[in-house]
Amino acid sequence: MNALLHGDAAADAAAEDAPLLRLSGVNAGYGDVKVLRDVDLEVARGEIVTLLGPNGAGKTTLLLACSGFVNVTSGDIAFHGQSLIGTVPHAIARRGVAHIPEDRSLWPTLTVDEHLRLTAKPGALDVYDLFPEIARMRHKRAGLMSGGEQQMLAMARALVSNPEILLVDEMSMGLAPVIVERLFGTLEEIAASQGIGVLLVEQHVHLALRHATRGYVLAGGRIRTSGTAAELNARWSEVRASYLGTS
Ligand code: ATP
Repeated sequence: MNALLHGDAAADAAAEDAPLLRLSGVNAGYGDVKVLRDVDLEVARGEIVTLLGPNGAGKTTLLLACSGFVNVTSGDIAFHGQSLIGTVPHAIARRGVAHIPEDRSLWPTLTVDEHLRLTAKPGALDVYDLFPEIARMRHKRAGLMSGGEQQMLAMARALVSNPEILLVDEMSMGLAPVIVERLFGTLEEIAASQGIGVLLVEQHVHLALRHATRGYVLAGGRIRTSGTAAELNARWSEVRASYLGTS
């Protein structure tokens, strides 16, 4: 970094150099239950990073730790180089971290429009352009929509908050393959066009690796290996046998 930079300018330059999201040596869990152990992970702008691993590995816990819902006992989670530790979830969301949970957390009696109005910020993406399917049902209650439509609404609601990173948990759960491909395509489009980073938990390994830039494998709360999506795909049977307990 330029030695002539001082104070705010130096901090701004450091933030500019830092990856969007960086976990370093993160230990986290629920009370006495330790789940994440010494986790290091990074997501850059415009990158889709997938977090893979068996049931109970701690994938959801890692996303929850990033959005402030799970206590980090040691290590750091930094966003643009600034620590998020001790920051409450709504303040983390305001800083540009949007979490799309596995259950989507929609309000069944609220309409599509109402959901979007609750989180929309000025200058937000035109999500009705991105998802014409839900534009046609803007006055429909979420509880009456199909699973795929609900997932589009969950993604649209996250996007209108002008996030810099999306944390996406099991987007494909219970959805038809054609809808899943459509949603992954949209993630790729917004990552490329808006520079939004994506950290994506996914059970369907090959699907995730087809759309991601890089991936990490978490098992027993530890990162066991990582690499580009192409590298992980090429050595997946070895990775699976070594870390996931199957052959
Ligand atoms: P899956 O793929 O099955 O969703 P995961 O990799 O997302 O699994 P987590 O849901 O993060 O795993 O769970 C990791 C561990 O933390 C599990 O052993 C789980 O039982 C435990 N755990 C999850 N939530 C809690 C909680 N609220 N209190 C205590 N332990 C919890």
